[in-house]
Amino acid sequence: ANKARSTKVAAGFTLGLEGAKMGEVVTRFPPEPSGYLHIGHAKAAMLNQYFAKMYRGKLIIRFDDTNPTKETTEFEDTILEDLSLLDIKGDVVTHTSDYFDTLYSLAIQMIKSGRAYTDDTEQAQMRDERMNGIASAHRDDSIEENLKHFAEMTAASPEGLRWCLRAKLSVDNPNKALRDPVIYRCNTLPHHRTGDKWKVYPTYDFACPIVDSIEGVTHALRTNEYRDRNPQYRWMTEALGIRNVQIWDFSRLNFIYTLLSKRKLHRFVNTGLVRGWDDPRFPTVRGIRRRGLTVEALRQFMLLQGPSQAIVSLEWDSIWAMNKKVIDPVAPRHWAIVEAGRHVALWIVPVTIEGGPSASEVKSLPKHKKNLAAGEKKTVYSSNILIDQEDARSFEDQEEVTLMDWGNAIVRSKTTSGSGQVISIEMGLHLDGDFKKTKKKITWLSQPTSENPLIPVTLLDYDYLITKKKLEENDDVNDFITPVTEFREAAVADANVKDLKKGDYMQFERKGYFVFDGEGTDGRLEFIKIPDGKAAGLAS
Ligand code: ATP
Ligand code: MG
Ligand code: MG
Repeated sequence: ANKARSTKVAAGFTLGLEGAKMGEVVTRFPPEPSGYLHIGHAKAAMLNQYFAKMYRGKLIIRFDDTNPTKETTEFEDTILEDLSLLDIKGDVVTHTSDYFDTLYSLAIQMIKSGRAYTDDTEQAQMRDERMNGIASAHRDDSIEENLKHFAEMTAASPEGLRWCLRAKLSVDNPNKALRDPVIYRCNTLPHHRTGDKWKVYPTYDFACPIVDSIEGVTHALRTNEYRDRNPQYRWMTEALGIRNVQIWDFSRLNFIYTLLSKRKLHRFVNTGLVRGWDDPRFPTVRGIRRRGLTVEALRQFMLLQGPSQAIVSLEWDSIWAMNKKVIDPVAPRHWAIVEAGRHVALWIVPVTIEGGPSASEVKSLPKHKKNLAAGEKKTVYSSNILIDQEDARSFEDQEEVTLMDWGNAIVRSKTTSGSGQVISIEMGLHLDGDFKKTKKKITWLSQPTSENPLIPVTLLDYDYLITKKKLEENDDVNDFITPVTEFREAAVADANVKDLKKGDYMQFERKGYFVFDGEGTDGRLEFIKIPDGKAAGLAS
């Protein structure tokens, strides 16, 4: 390993690429344009970007478009948008389909050199033969026969459609990935870029090492579930006499209570269990960004995973805890008082303040006491304020509490309904009181007036979509769907929240971090709770 050129990341281990030369490293991120990117793709994309930057090299974004059944131009656009949400921009965008001509002639070269043969063995039988190390009946067909069948495949004739092309590696290698993998197959659907020019398409196993080699990739980052296929990858370049590429593998990312498969995510969208691909409950790049995960925290988290080979399901807590460290120093502070709780109707509690100002007074206060760059907000003082029912209930008779950004006050009297709801409170200001001696620091808002209105808001929180930490291969997702995953609370907030732009991070003090999600259909401003790593994703 080239220690001199490696670097320390947050975890303290050394993250570098073997044989990397400054200015000469080329990496690539090869998404298939068949869906939206998720947090697993983010890991691959960020590691590729990291190494390209670290060695002042180049990052290729390559659309791996070899299967017209699943791929569209629209998905290419959304993937590029997803990447820009991650602050990732390749130095160049390419397509595997750019190389279809080259790949095709290399397939012919493989046939002519006796390194590939056509096969019409039924799929089930082929799987069986591969499992048991049995040679295909066509393994020793002549080069002429193979060329003839490949021509039939290329024309997609009824005869050709029955065949595929296999690399001639091994019949019975203990590594089953080396047992004559399929390298070309027919597909008669039009391709979103090459139209109906081709009826035969290379497989990933064939195209990837070749295109990596042609494009000058020096280090191919792959998830380690492909490790068995690494010798196969090398075989392809060797068989064709083209430049070999260094493989650097890392573990596939998984999270508890989370599905990271495009197919399964599609189902949640199609059945309306989520509202779309950018739903804050989704592990898509759009979903996690909308939920308030910063690019900075994502990057830190992914680099910390670095070259780890452990295939485990990670907790969400640690990534949200990192995120909190990123947003806490910058998130402006606002106040909100809950009107209707998640489970019960809560009554907002009006409080009269004896000794308060007779007319409303407005003061400018910092939005963040430790970060004045966050700007100022207006706080309205009056003798009629509102507080949370939960706070009101906790007050003892004559208790001294602190009204934040104001001073101490003593609870003089409290009116309670038969069902235990606090209906109103009277307090007396006690500004000489020491805020260090009170147990409770209370957020409050002045009763709204036409001059100083409050803003109706909705606070949203979410639970995991599935009830099982890790779904097994045979589990039916339908048996593990969380019945209710969205929780809404109605609240009123200070008018300063009007300054926020969609996507801004902020804190409702004593309630948590939120990301402003714009105006809801009911006209209320919507705020999505950002998990802080203490009870990540669990609606508490
Ligand atoms: P899916 O199974 O969700 O469809 P995929 O692996 O088929 O994902 P690709 O578009 O082929 O999706 O993936 C692009 C790149 O992202 C590949 O290099 C792949 O290894 C990597 N990748 C995909 N999922 C993960 C994951 N969970 N963790 C790390 N890397 C991943
Ligand atoms: Mg794939
Ligand atoms: Mg996959």
